[in-house]
Amino acid sequence: MRRFVWLLGLIAAGQQITPVPDKFYFEDGKLRVLILTGRNNHDWRQTTPFLRQVLEQSGRFDVRVTEEPSGLRPETLHPYDVLISNYCGPRWGFTAEKAVEDFVRAGKGLVVVHAASYPFGETPVLGEHMGRTNVYQAPWAAWGNMVGAIWSDKEPKTGHAQRHAYQVKWADEAHPIADGLKPFLLSDELYHNFRLKPGIHILASALDATESGGNGKEEPLLWTKPYGQGRVFHTALGHDLDAMHAPGFVASYARGVEWAATGKVTLPAVIDLNPKNKDALRVLLVTGGHDHESSFYGVFEKWRDAKVNVDPQPVAFRNDLRKSYDVLVLYDSIQMEQLPEKHRQNLRDFVESGKGLVVLHHAIVDFGGWEWWWKEVVGGRYVLKAEPGYEASTYLHDVELVVTPKSGHPITKGLPQMRVFDETYKKVWHRDDVQVLLTVDHPTSDMEIGWVSPYQKSRVVYVQLGHGRESHELPWYRTLVQRSVLWAGGR
Ligand SMILES: [Zn+2]
Ligand SMILES: [Zn+2]
Repeated sequence: MRRFVWLLGLIAAGQQITPVPDKFYFEDGKLRVLILTGRNNHDWRQTTPFLRQVLEQSGRFDVRVTEEPSGLRPETLHPYDVLISNYCGPRWGFTAEKAVEDFVRAGKGLVVVHAASYPFGETPVLGEHMGRTNVYQAPWAAWGNMVGAIWSDKEPKTGHAQRHAYQVKWADEAHPIADGLKPFLLSDELYHNFRLKPGIHILASALDATESGGNGKEEPLLWTKPYGQGRVFHTALGHDLDAMHAPGFVASYARGVEWAATGKVTLPAVIDLNPKNKDALRVLLVTGGHDHESSFYGVFEKWRDAKVNVDPQPVAFRNDLRKSYDVLVLYDSIQMEQLPEKHRQNLRDFVESGKGLVVLHHAIVDFGGWEWWWKEVVGGRYVLKAEPGYEASTYLHDVELVVTPKSGHPITKGLPQMRVFDETYKKVWHRDDVQVLLTVDHPTSDMEIGWVSPYQKSRVVYVQLGHGRESHELPWYRTLVQRSVLWAGGR
């Protein structure tokens, strides 16, 4: 037994672990960013995801986050181009701190956001939610030298007066980070009385107005600092999400990160937080006549492939829609007599013009008295009242279902069988020649609950699912609806 333990020790000590190239784990051609967070007197749980999102949406960065920077080692930092500190807490210990110093000194980047300039100096360690720990740790001098400033408790104390809205002015408009940016407004804390280190290059400042309790001086807020071969960008801005949503914060931060990583800036002056593709489909989403949870709109939010306008019926059809839209999505409930003749013609013109139509959930009830609509176009009808040849349809809320996508169509391609919680319809009439997309085997439901209509003049899809939040928030449902819209739009 002793011999066995000794042997294990030998294997562990002498083991060579074959390295695997980083390229298998990072996106090609993107700058690699590691955000250090996990301790902060500010709400890092909210701000860190935002700091990450801004960078990812710019398309320039591949971003990771560590919430335990005290565990950093040289191997941890090796793949990255730039570190961002959104950290304000206790020291990280010798190994992690040396790894960060060496990383920057060797020519990489560091970005310091808001309160991340506070820790590791002469002031006491802060806890979460502005908690006072009353613990003083020995300073980590190199941090202040990297940041380019430290905080002081001595007069005049480093800190801020009352939070207010103020203008940030560029001191060096020609710097790559500032180039093309205008002065900008935000509501934030305005840090004052930093103890600045030699070698900082001030990019932007703001007046610490006496009306808000400030010192009446122009205070430096954004600056750069060389450290060894590396580049540091410091922004005092970013107390919370409200401050961070200012376009000026977004642009200066993202460009500062790029500059710290590379020494150059290619990002534009405006970074859109909810960008749309250039060739995004133009979609008119028609609601009204039937209540629904607001979660329905989540299906279309943050979706780059479509620009979606919402308009209720019947006014949604007041104009000729052919010039303005590629796809019509109906999530409404309306009968023929509620739609004026001119509006009805506009709807008909759109459908006959080779565009796309997606009918969702209760919109299968629409225009029961307009035979052309349900028989030719949609290929199906929820029958409100029984009539010769058509039994009345029925519905039941809150049913747990297994939905099976049928293969053989781009809308359902590769989608798995799903567990869904939704409303079921029974005895919905549909044509025999629809192409079935979705099936269900449940006593309260029809078998076919989604199809492509055989209508020839435009592409028409019906998806029965989508009564409530449980479906609206399901990624599978979002994919299904989005694909239906794309396919209807000819994509
Ligand atoms: Zn703050
Ligand atoms: Zn419903």
